[in-house]
Amino acid sequence: MRIGGLVRAAGEGLAEVLWPTRCVGCDQPGELLCDECRARLPWVEQRLACPACGVPYGHLTCTECPGEPGGAAWPARATIAALGFRGTPARMVTCLKDAHELRLAPAMAAAMLTALEEASAWPAADGRPRFSPRETDGVCFVPATAAAFSRRGFDHMELVARSLAGCAGLPLADALVRAPARDQRELGREERSANLSGTARVVQDVAGARLLLLDDVATTGASLAEATRALLARGAASVTACVFARVW
Ligand SMILES: [Zn+2]
Ligand SMILES: [Zn+2]
Repeated sequence: MRIGGLVRAAGEGLAEVLWPTRCVGCDQPGELLCDECRARLPWVEQRLACPACGVPYGHLTCTECPGEPGGAAWPARATIAALGFRGTPARMVTCLKDAHELRLAPAMAAAMLTALEEASAWPAADGRPRFSPRETDGVCFVPATAAAFSRRGFDHMELVARSLAGCAGLPLADALVRAPARDQRELGREERSANLSGTARVVQDVAGARLLLLDDVATTGASLAEATRALLARGAASVTACVFARVW
C-alpha cells in the first residue's frame, strides 16, 4: 500500500470510529444500506411500467401522462424509473444531497443501471428497446441550479452520472448547465431566486448524439422535459431519460 493509501485507510478507520456508518433506511449501525432495507426497496417492475413517464403501471393505459413519449410533458423517447420515491429511496436522495453522504452516489447509479438493464428487454413507443448501451453515445444529467450548487458545493447528479457512465462503459457528456440568466445585482429579491433556478442550456456539441439523461427524482417531469427539449433543440438524435425515483 502506498503512503496515500495508508493515510486514507487510517482516515477511513478513524471516521468509522467517530461517525459509524448507519443504514440510510433504518438508521441501524453497520452498513450504508442494510440487507433488510435493500430487500425491501420499492423497485418499479419495468414490464408493467409506462414507457413514457416511468410510473410502475400504465404499460397499457397511463393515468399519469398521455401515455405517448415525445409529447410536451414527457418529450424523451422513453423514461425509466428505478424505484418509487418513498421510504429508503427518498432518504437516499436527501442523504446524498443534504447530508453529503457521497457514498450513496454509486449506490444510486447501481440501482439505475439495474432498472436500465431490465428496461432493455421491453420496447419503447418507437419499437426499439427502452434502453440499449449499444445505441447510447453518452450519459448526461440534469444539472443542479446555481443556487443549489453554491449551497452544497457539489452537483450530486454529476457524481451519480459519473459512476453510472463508468460502470456502463459509456462516455460522460457534461452537456448541460443551469447558469443564472442575468447578473444577480440587477435584480430584486423575488427575481433573484427565479434567476438562480436558471434554465438548462447545452454547452457541448450534442448534434446527432443518442443520449441517456439522468435525474434523481421525477414528479411532473418538468426539469427532465426542459433538459430533453434543450438537447433535442441542439440536434441530439434522441434522449432516453432515467430517474432514480418516481413520485406518483
Ligand atoms: Zn436498514
Ligand atoms: Zn405514463
